Amino acid sequence: MQEVNKLWQQLLEKLELSVSNVSFVMWFKPLKVVDFTENKTLVLSTKSSFAKNQILKNYFDKLKSVAGEIFGEDVEIDVLDPNEEKDYLSKNKPNLSKNDVEPARNVFNPKYTFGNFVVGKCNQTVYAAARAVAENPGKNFNPLFIYGGVGLGKTHLLHAIGNYVRETYPKMKVKYVTCEQFTNDYIESLGSSIKNKTNSEFREKYRNVDVLIVDDIQFISKKTSTQEEFFHTFNDLHQFGKQIIIASDRPPKEIETLEERLRSRFTMGLIQDLQTPDFETRVAILRKKCQLEKYSINDDALNYIAEKIDSNVRELEGMLSKVCFLSNLIGKSSADLNDVKEAFSDKYDEKNEGGSNADQIIQAVCNYFDITKDDITGKKKSKEIVEPRMIAIYMISEMLELPLVTIGKIFGGRDHTTIMHARDKITAEMKTNRKTQTFVNEIKKMLKSG
Ligand code: ADP
Ligand code: MG
Repeated sequence: MQEVNKLWQQLLEKLELSVSNVSFVMWFKPLKVVDFTENKTLVLSTKSSFAKNQILKNYFDKLKSVAGEIFGEDVEIDVLDPNEEKDYLSKNKPNLSKNDVEPARNVFNPKYTFGNFVVGKCNQTVYAAARAVAENPGKNFNPLFIYGGVGLGKTHLLHAIGNYVRETYPKMKVKYVTCEQFTNDYIESLGSSIKNKTNSEFREKYRNVDVLIVDDIQFISKKTSTQEEFFHTFNDLHQFGKQIIIASDRPPKEIETLEERLRSRFTMGLIQDLQTPDFETRVAILRKKCQLEKYSINDDALNYIAEKIDSNVRELEGMLSKVCFLSNLIGKSSADLNDVKEAFSDKYDEKNEGGSNADQIIQAVCNYFDITKDDITGKKKSKEIVEPRMIAIYMISEMLELPLVTIGKIFGGRDHTTIMHARDKITAEMKTNRKTQTFVNEIKKMLKSG
């Protein structure tokens, strides 16, 4: 059962994208896996009975559906409060191995090394830049700004730099934070009563380093005072030749409401993007993963996964570990095409409510707004066309989970960042804008009724 914790991490990553930040941090992040039983019950523990009740009341369906995607549809979930956990552990011997214990925080993931990073056309320049920076921190490109879509290896490369520097220059201080951690630390430092003391603690922590690595910087957009603090941290480090490495899901010019002075700081070193891997690289990544995790899967099955999942390495790996986990569970020594097809059928059936495909969705959107298919996939920029276009992109992405690049192709060869932007915009509007909600719901109804 070595896979359970890994699958659990994947589940958390998925949940993080689908619930609000606050609910994620409050309710999901503190959950601990206690057991994964023979009959596929995932036993989880909470920090209090209050937390347990909150989860059962408000989040159980969400948890169950995401767990279904990752552990297979027939998974059951049991949530225990601390007393029940004690009770459980006194009566059962959990099926988990030592490897399932969560790794310590703020240590670099030992698996995220340069050696384990598969280099292809899509990422060779980023890789070279990351290596150059790791080999001579502060000397080459400062800052190094890496951007690219979700699951393309940004965090892996950042950890690889961290691992490399720690090993090669044991005396150097390396700090890795996510933008969220930086923000939280900063807010905490403001909250303390002895202001000067905390400020100096905060500075000590961030300015007294040789290499500062900040992941997911895009979340700094809109956080004005955090931006200000980061600006000063940045200048301080940069001025003394300390290396700064930043990762983001988009280039500096596309991070909205980023102060101009920060934007210009981000662009003064080297900016590199990670692109989606081609088929050969995807196969190589899967093979590497099999070797690292000792998975056994035949070539047809492996190629099938690489063909189907073409824009996100995390999903690629997720599918591989799910397939191997499931085939292992039914006692097979090696996963084959059947296991893969089974795993895929769960994934694609659930979301796609009416069994629609991209063409049908586009047609329904066109009918609804009374425009033509050429309009929607073409170049027109008028509001009457742009809004339906973004809605269609959102619906295709949400209902079919097609890769951004593929959706880009459907929409007349648009770039994946354009598609991402449209999807994100409508995703945000779906939370706040009644009109958009109505459009989408009515189009879904049209699709269901055929
Ligand atoms: P991001 O931070 O860009 O969202 P991650 O760095 O978390 O993505 O990568 C997601 C997963 O894919 C990780 O497990 C990582 O090891 C793996 N991965 C991504 N790119 C590669 C690559 N080129 N070679 C090997 N593994 C990769
Ligand atoms: Mg990341």
